[in-house]
Amino acid sequence: MAFAIRLCPYCGGEINSDESGYYVCAECEKRTFRSRSNTKAYLLNKPYEEEFSKIVNMIDENPSKALSTIDDMIVNSEEPTMDMYFTRGLAYTALGEEGRAHNDWKKALDLMTDFRFIDAYIVAICKRVVELTCMKEREYIEFHPIDYINVLTSEFRAKANISCKGIFYITTYRNFRMKYQAGELDDDEEIYRSIVPKLLKNILAYGRDFRTVINIIEEVLEDFHYNPDTYVEDDNLKLHMCSLLKEEYITLSENFSDEHIERIFRHWNDANMYDLDFWMDELMKSVRDDTILQKLRSLGSPNRESFDLNNAVEDYARMYLLLSEDGKDLSQDL
Ligand SMILES: [Zn+2]
Repeated sequence: MAFAIRLCPYCGGEINSDESGYYVCAECEKRTFRSRSNTKAYLLNKPYEEEFSKIVNMIDENPSKALSTIDDMIVNSEEPTMDMYFTRGLAYTALGEEGRAHNDWKKALDLMTDFRFIDAYIVAICKRVVELTCMKEREYIEFHPIDYINVLTSEFRAKANISCKGIFYITTYRNFRMKYQAGELDDDEEIYRSIVPKLLKNILAYGRDFRTVINIIEEVLEDFHYNPDTYVEDDNLKLHMCSLLKEEYITLSENFSDEHIERIFRHWNDANMYDLDFWMDELMKSVRDDTILQKLRSLGSPNRESFDLNNAVEDYARMYLLLSEDGKDLSQDL
């Protein structure tokens, strides 16, 4: 696979420069930050960078103090800025107040006029969603991170005109994995075990660069000790389906041109990926339910004599990669 082309995760455009800490898109000019866990990138080179960084640093150690510091600033300001609201939102998450955090991020988003640095804000939110999820789990408080992310992505999409579901899920996943690998979840590995499959399912449906999706499937298969010989006994049926899907993507994309890869990315967006979401849901359920597997026939192989999970996965992969049954590149006609 000669997959060298790097696409802007926001528009699929060409990345033309690699500045200190971020890639710049030649088309939409959005910056994509290399660190997916830096909660302070949104402050970079701003006159108040140092002052606000101190507050952000305080969030985990002393969230109440961080909150009161930024709250005072907002109360005493005639016109609170976007970064004030955004920072207060981050502080609220450390106190388990996800509703207030959401409100503040919404206010910040309303004040945003330049969207070139929006990735820095998304990274910071995703990192806090991970902390929030762990906190709620540890305290046995009901919290649905996927629903929370969905509300946030709708607002970002409406305001900044970007398809960002995939970016949110992938960045949240990356932060969970970093935390897991750093040993910070050693005492509650079940948090990781319960959240990652949910994130993965959404990454499969909303990830627009299939190469990233392949990498993530590989990571999850490894982290969850998927074994192709024992997946039935291990009760890893869904992971087995993911493994089949990964193999399909690799096989079908063997001779893809850079242009085809880019067209796949550009074809899909948060609105039409709802279709993928639906079919991915069916695929996941079909591993335990033959009647759903038969329903998946209508996706691409209604005339096949026999039909099994491999066929269903192949049909799904073709739909996502914009290939016809005989391997024709459909992306050119879209
Ligand atoms: Zn772009």
